[in-house]
Amino acid sequence: MKEILSMDNVSYSYDSEDEVAKKAVDGVSFTVQEDEWIAIVGHNGSGKSTLAKLMIGLLFPEEGDVNVFIEKLTENNIWEIRSRMGFVFQNPDNQFVGSTVQDDVAFALENNGVPFEEMVTRVHEALAQVNMSDFLDQEPHHLSGGQKQRVAIAGALALHPKLLIMDEATSMLDPQGRNEVIHLVEELKRKTGLTVISITHDLEEALLADRIIVMNKGKVLTVGTPEQIFARGNELEEIGLDLPFALRVSSLLRENGLDLVGEHMTEEELVNELW
Ligand code: ADP
Repeated sequence: MKEILSMDNVSYSYDSEDEVAKKAVDGVSFTVQEDEWIAIVGHNGSGKSTLAKLMIGLLFPEEGDVNVFIEKLTENNIWEIRSRMGFVFQNPDNQFVGSTVQDDVAFALENNGVPFEEMVTRVHEALAQVNMSDFLDQEPHHLSGGQKQRVAIAGALALHPKLLIMDEATSMLDPQGRNEVIHLVEELKRKTGLTVISITHDLEEALLADRIIVMNKGKVLTVGTPEQIFARGNELEEIGLDLPFALRVSSLLRENGLDLVGEHMTEEELVNELW
């Protein structure tokens, strides 16, 4: 397995002059391997967005190292390393720069000096990957929320990134838009081996990841597969996280004598069924 990103004892406080300032991120360590889909979950204020900013070099740690593609992120290499990552943020409307879908997807390529012919090929490829080829000439602002996020993902994919970082990318979408985006990411990961780090407060989405990192008060509370994490349901509820709907349904049914998970269906199959 190849390491794609690691945090090594990383801390960050917004007011670093103040010695007793609360750390937004406090001694965080974890490693993300190639091909993984990692969900980082936690309730508001647990440090998720600060972690995202540290991963893409919008902030630098006051202690510890952030390593991306086995290189320590510094102010000197951040632009080169960032060109190998794709980002998708919360509000799709804030991300659009082009007046049409294809201009928008082409924008970063143009900035990176990709030759015209190759740019056209990559834009078409990326839009096909997100099933948006029919929308080439449409104005981005006229699309639905899910379609907008798919275009934003196409913009990231056109850069041929090794790592896709999403920060609350589905939180402004309706359930249909959310499903569209999440199933797209699943498919891309399966087909292209993209590594995905998705920061979310949505545990339903996290259920589909390979591993979940649970943040609480700036620290990593626990890391594990969805099965391992959700086996500790009470602890999640104690830190203000709602258990996913699918698991609530299954445990309610179990309490009433009908166990869906077992011989005929795994927990994962049940979750996919209920999504
Ligand atoms: P999350 O994304 O999980 O909601 P954040 O990383 O945004 O958490 O916030 C972690 C902590 O840092 C919180 O206590 C928050 O109030 C604080 N914080 C976040 N952004 C700033 C900022 N720009 N200035 C000062 N404090 C901040």
